[in-house]
Amino acid sequence: MTELHYAVDADGVATITWDVPEKSMNVMSFEGLQELEAGIDAALADDAVKGVIITSGKPDFAGGMDLNILAKMRDDAGDNPAQGLFDGIMAMHVLLRKIELAGMDRKTQKGGKPIAAALPGTAMGIGLEIPLACHRIFAADNAKARIGLPEIKVGIFPGAGGTTRLSWKLGAMAAAPLLLEGRALAPAKAKAAGVIDEVVPAADLLSAAKAWVLGASDADLVKPWDKKGYKIPGGAPYSAPGFPTFVGASAMIHANTWGVYPAAKALLSAVYEGLQVPFDTALKIEARWFTSVLMNPSSSAMIRSLFVNKGALEKGANRPDVPDERVKKVGVLGAGMMGAGISYVSAAAGIEVVLLDASVEAAEKGKAYSTGILDKAIKRGRSTEDKKAALLGMIKTTSDYADLEGCDLIIEAVFEDPAVKAEVTAKAEAVIPDTAIFASNTSTLPITSLAQASRRPEQFIGIHFFSPVDKMLLVEIIKGAQTGARAVAKSLDYVRQIRKTPIVVNDARFFYANRCIIPYINESVRMVAEGVEPALIENAAKLCGFPLGPLQLNDETSIDLGVKIAKATKAALGNAYDNDEADAVLFKLFDEGRLGRKTKSGFYEYDEKGKRGALWQGLRDNWTKPDNQPSVDEVKNRLMMAQVLEAVRALDEGVLEDIREGDVGAILGWGFAPWSGGPFSWLDIIGAKRAVEICDDLEARFGARFQATQSMREMAASGKRFYGKASSAA
Ligand code: NAD
Repeated sequence: MTELHYAVDADGVATITWDVPEKSMNVMSFEGLQELEAGIDAALADDAVKGVIITSGKPDFAGGMDLNILAKMRDDAGDNPAQGLFDGIMAMHVLLRKIELAGMDRKTQKGGKPIAAALPGTAMGIGLEIPLACHRIFAADNAKARIGLPEIKVGIFPGAGGTTRLSWKLGAMAAAPLLLEGRALAPAKAKAAGVIDEVVPAADLLSAAKAWVLGASDADLVKPWDKKGYKIPGGAPYSAPGFPTFVGASAMIHANTWGVYPAAKALLSAVYEGLQVPFDTALKIEARWFTSVLMNPSSSAMIRSLFVNKGALEKGANRPDVPDERVKKVGVLGAGMMGAGISYVSAAAGIEVVLLDASVEAAEKGKAYSTGILDKAIKRGRSTEDKKAALLGMIKTTSDYADLEGCDLIIEAVFEDPAVKAEVTAKAEAVIPDTAIFASNTSTLPITSLAQASRRPEQFIGIHFFSPVDKMLLVEIIKGAQTGARAVAKSLDYVRQIRKTPIVVNDARFFYANRCIIPYINESVRMVAEGVEPALIENAAKLCGFPLGPLQLNDETSIDLGVKIAKATKAALGNAYDNDEADAVLFKLFDEGRLGRKTKSGFYEYDEKGKRGALWQGLRDNWTKPDNQPSVDEVKNRLMMAQVLEAVRALDEGVLEDIREGDVGAILGWGFAPWSGGPFSWLDIIGAKRAVEICDDLEARFGARFQATQSMREMAASGKRFYGKASSAA
């Protein structure tokens, strides 16, 4: 065995210790499943073995399943991928059911061997599904541990019995937050919710599990659902208390997913149907729904972007081959909104920070942002005074450039003004080591031109964060014309240290993310100006799967920023600029002081506390033509194509070098319909031919901005796709 180890002690207790070599976290592989089965078989066959403990040799139990397994099951099955998946999933059910029944006689329910799970830390996905099949679950009292089933977040659902076991154990209502939202709980909360059985001091974990195994009776091994007359907590679907649960859950799913995520509905169907039949049949139903979800192009696209490719990018898929460039000391120039956030995430990653602003007071104000975050975390029990002191101790505030000495990375986040940026670049470069990398967090200024202020443009790069820095997962790295490989490697190593997801793009107006977001927002504002109902625009975006509508997004990013960008773009493009109609709406809001969330008025109304209310009536009064409304599909197509075409152009022009970055960046950067896997995956789902048809129609009616690219036409003609065959590896 290489991933799980089997040993029997003098008291006849077998321990199966999961410990995948060279990994900090256990992840289930094909070999792992085989080894688990071999361990269980050995324990059940050996008369000297009285019971089993399944545990981990690492600080955590397991992070989940390697989702590549699912892709492989499907691909290996050739012409009949659904059958391949179903058979593979049923094989997992057979294994976990073997653990659950533990060799007992099914009639008398006697003679089984007790099997306990002992979880030292985090147990997610199949890392919880295996324990749920055991007879008792022990968890160490580990504050960092998280226990849950997060599958729904990557577009699937717990398909190794977790859906069925948890809903039968807790009842559909109580299981819903764990299954439908993928919520993970700390051990004490998981116990209170009934997910696990015992929380014990870490040092006692194995002894507590062993004592239980040695003392367990036959009756302790029989799962409630294997007992006659078991009543599901909260009631079965066709019972007075159960019925409203499912009506409510069905409505809630639709309210949250707008009908675009197949997994949530399939999960609910598996629970609903499963609760009406015997347990073994319920597992089979779960397997069928799971197969159907895995066969849905949305699920494969989500797994591909949010699991496989996101992981690959985080591990440095596009990192140049240069030695380790991890950052030890970062200088952050400008302690405003962005600089404050960058300091916090850097210090939280254990990197020493020098935070510089024009005055020490201004720098201190930036540092206070970290204090605020940490105070909140302490209040919620997620941090301690000691940790706060340690983190704040990592951030030195200053207005003196001499303090930047020894920084191996500088990130400037001063005002968006080339002259100010040039000044701070020169001043910093005068004191930092020759080898240091200098990065700009600019959102609009070309890196190549900013690099002119640098003495070493090959060490100058863009590291573009999104706001708020501590929440947004994406970081866009921008190569200027002269940026060298070491600067790229350093930026990637830094992004990895702060545990965000990087994409690397070339220098062009608005880089990648903003380049796509701006036309999307503009299209929505243009529709307001044309007289389209604002609510139709917002709802159409949600029907496309966006977490928030474009007008709300506009309020979040602020109207004045939109006005600033509009003016700068018009100045840069001259006669080629064609957005005056939409700008009229933006300028009116601006003139009326409706600057978005920050002024508690924008496209939406807000109450005193800043809670968002209805769309501003002024939009309808000034522009809407209620009697002349487009179809929902037309609005959806305009919103999607405005950004997707821009993504394709970015690829054609070489701004994007890798479609994986285009897809992952879109989902993490601006919430692009996660169900679709990103703009390129979406185009693969609808097909290039259909995409060109939509563009041709929109171009004829709304103008050249919707013109399909030559590359799309070629793909439509040849039947090619962005990703190879419908497989989950890029
Ligand atoms: P901000 O106005 O909140 O902060 C800028 C800070 O820089 C201020 O604290 C100011 O005192 C300081 N500063 C200005 N000139 C300085 C100098 N010569 N020396 C030292 N400090 C100086 O701005 P922000 O929103 O944090 O944006 C900063 C940068 O980040 C800009 O380039 C902006 O384009 C970019 N950016 C902003 C966002 C966003 O959403 N706000 C997102 C991505 C990138």
